[in-house]
Amino acid sequence: MAYSPSPRDELRMLTNDVRAYVEALRVWGVQHIPADQPPEPSSPDPKVAPALHRPQPSPAPRGTDHPTVPSTSSPEIQEIHLPLEPPLAPLSRLSLPELEAAAKQCTACRLHQGRTHVVFGVGNPHAELMFAGEAPGRDEDLQGEPFVGRAGQLLTRIIEAIGMKRQDVYIANVIKCRPPNNRNPEADEIAHCEPYLIRQIALVQPRLIVALGTFAAQTLLQTKLPISQLRGRFHTYQGVKLMPTFHPAFLLRNPERKRAVWEDMQMVQRELRQLST
Ligand code: URA
Repeated sequence: MAYSPSPRDELRMLTNDVRAYVEALRVWGVQHIPADQPPEPSSPDPKVAPALHRPQPSPAPRGTDHPTVPSTSSPEIQEIHLPLEPPLAPLSRLSLPELEAAAKQCTACRLHQGRTHVVFGVGNPHAELMFAGEAPGRDEDLQGEPFVGRAGQLLTRIIEAIGMKRQDVYIANVIKCRPPNNRNPEADEIAHCEPYLIRQIALVQPRLIVALGTFAAQTLLQTKLPISQLRGRFHTYQGVKLMPTFHPAFLLRNPERKRAVWEDMQMVQRELRQLST
């Protein structure tokens, strides 16, 4: 029988979504949200009235960096000050160690509840080549390091096949906490976590990124195209060339696809050589 949530479950899900949204704002350093105005009775079009009739902001009080909405006769129509903890610095200001510390404290989505470790990323902080996987699995969650299970061992061999060592490259995932039972990450989890990867890329400044598997490739490239159509050519993500290829875990189940990955990695190797001449 199809699952149909009760009104109570729906309310709980809605509350969780709102909480996740507010947490995301907090991660980005937002401290307050101005209250919206209800339409005035005389408004010709209630859909556009709230914005048109919103009172003009008054100058910011000294010592603050944002204006406040003046209070009106109705106590509901006042600026809402969210009871948030002191905001984290926006991620875009953090160094790699600070970013890792912020990720390790992150509770922005439900995935923090089941994690053993936040799996931030490892490797050379100045790597020319970066790998981006999906999310930690069981082994990674237990050890706090990406790609350490069987798929990780295969990734290490793939790296060595192009004449590099695992320590030469930087390895991270789109999602830093293990989803329960390795389920696919959900949209709000991606929205909370991808900013960490974006900042990692900005700090490491790799010349090339390899996206491992369908989820990472589709998420980063914002496409639904299958990995079989995405791989084999370079794309761009955050201004960096990106090669999608099959995930090592997929290769363990489909060893006949190793040849395709080998071809992708040869393109990566050639491109790296060209970029450094
Ligand atoms: N699969 C991933 O995508 N990432 C890991 O870290 C491990 C397995």
